[in-house]
Amino acid sequence: MSHTGTSGQPVPQRTAEQATTPREPAQAYAELVAGNRRFVDGTPRHPNQDAGRRAAVADGQHPFAVIVGCSDSRLAAEIIFDRGLGDLFVVRTAGHTAGPEVLGSVEYAVTVLGTPLVVVLGHDSCGAVQATRAASTTGSIPGGHLGAVVDAVLPSLRRAQAQGVDDIDGIVDVHIAQTVETLLEQSPVLADEVAQGRCAVVGLSYRLAAGVVRPVAAVPAGLATVEVPTDPAAPAAA
Ligand SMILES: [Zn+2]
Repeated sequence: MSHTGTSGQPVPQRTAEQATTPREPAQAYAELVAGNRRFVDGTPRHPNQDAGRRAAVADGQHPFAVIVGCSDSRLAAEIIFDRGLGDLFVVRTAGHTAGPEVLGSVEYAVTVLGTPLVVVLGHDSCGAVQATRAASTTGSIPGGHLGAVVDAVLPSLRRAQAQGVDDIDGIVDVHIAQTVETLLEQSPVLADEVAQGRCAVVGLSYRLAAGVVRPVAAVPAGLATVEVPTDPAAPAAA
């Protein structure tokens, strides 16, 4: 299928990006890690961010990854994974909680859009995790709807404490792994997609200063050990 711009001329870059859109879990994971590596190295390509891409995806989307991430302003998915329009289906709440609307959004992407990978994205020094630990220590749940965030993170805190993990970043990693489990336990739809091999779920922990992601959980387990291809040297001009 060929694409043409408004002038009728071919738009080769758009076609090239579409041709490389991952359609299975391991490819999608490798693509995300490769993009994060470019971001960390200071060699981003900013793919799929031009007018041609905007036009190409206006009539439909086929994102290759769902990102269930913390709302933290320093955790912008398209930036830290060096992607663009139509690539990532992003669902964000403070502390990447997994309530009904989040689960429904994940199920929409996986079943309707055919997205092959779900990523839970947490980070060091997470304010939601810190607020939860503070609430646990003082015995005082925050007022307003912030209490709902604390309630949602509390089971992860209890699990971390049971494992003897007390530092915030250690608790964050436990919470990421717990969120992966919660998605699969609370969504039989997602669990079935994973069981059929059409989708995978991976938990990534992001470091704010370094910009790098590190896998802390994956279902199936082998996914996070996927070999990431070396980034080709000189990318074509965008
Ligand atoms: Zn956070």
